[in-house]
Amino acid sequence: MRLDKLLAHCGFGTRKEVKQLIKNGYVKVNGEVIKKDKHHVDPVGDKVYVDDEEIMYQKYVYYMLNKPAGFVSATEDHFYPTVIDLIEENYRQDLFPVGRLDIDTEGLLLITNDGQLAHQLLSPKKHCPKVYYAKIQGVVTNDDVQTFLSGVIIDQDYQCQSAHLKILSVNGNESEIEVEIYEGKFHQIKKMFHAVGKEVTYLKRIRMKNLVLDESLELGSYRELTDEELDRLK
Ligand code: URA
Repeated sequence: MRLDKLLAHCGFGTRKEVKQLIKNGYVKVNGEVIKKDKHHVDPVGDKVYVDDEEIMYQKYVYYMLNKPAGFVSATEDHFYPTVIDLIEENYRQDLFPVGRLDIDTEGLLLITNDGQLAHQLLSPKKHCPKVYYAKIQGVVTNDDVQTFLSGVIIDQDYQCQSAHLKILSVNGNESEIEVEIYEGKFHQIKKMFHAVGKEVTYLKRIRMKNLVLDESLELGSYRELTDEELDRLK
């Protein structure tokens, strides 16, 4: 890997900033000052020091983000801030969100640079379970629970896979629910409730496979997954 890429990946600054560090003689590889940003290093085998501090290379990073409304689940957007903008600037290298939450949806979003894990979690064949908490305008009934189990029809003729709907509370014309789905169609939860004559007024993802949203994370905050969380996700 190029030396400048390695330093940027490890959070030492943008490509431009790390090139300057290298040029100014702050970087040593195996004890020798290297001033060429194109210098090739083995991130695992070589010992790289910045200002005499050894850098620790981590190929893949995994962050749990508590997504706030108002951010798009993408790496770039012309109109809105993205979920990647919520990650500290020096640590954004090559990161992307695993799947999409709508701009107004909150909650659990995995951010990583591990394409293989993302593929495993998103592959329709794997039926990765996702659990959402929602506030619904309308009275959610046991009939709705049955309809969700049998497969709601959305988009005119698409029958959703069986979904588990749990009614948490009904207060006047507002219900609180949890729903577990095993696929990820565009606006799926909103469309499922629309199909039974109700509207989602608030939506938050609380679990993906066996990764549970850490409720101590404030909206817009993130943290690295623990080794145990990562093992359970793989
Ligand atoms: N279903 C939706 O309708 N929106 C989301 O963001 C996720 C699932």
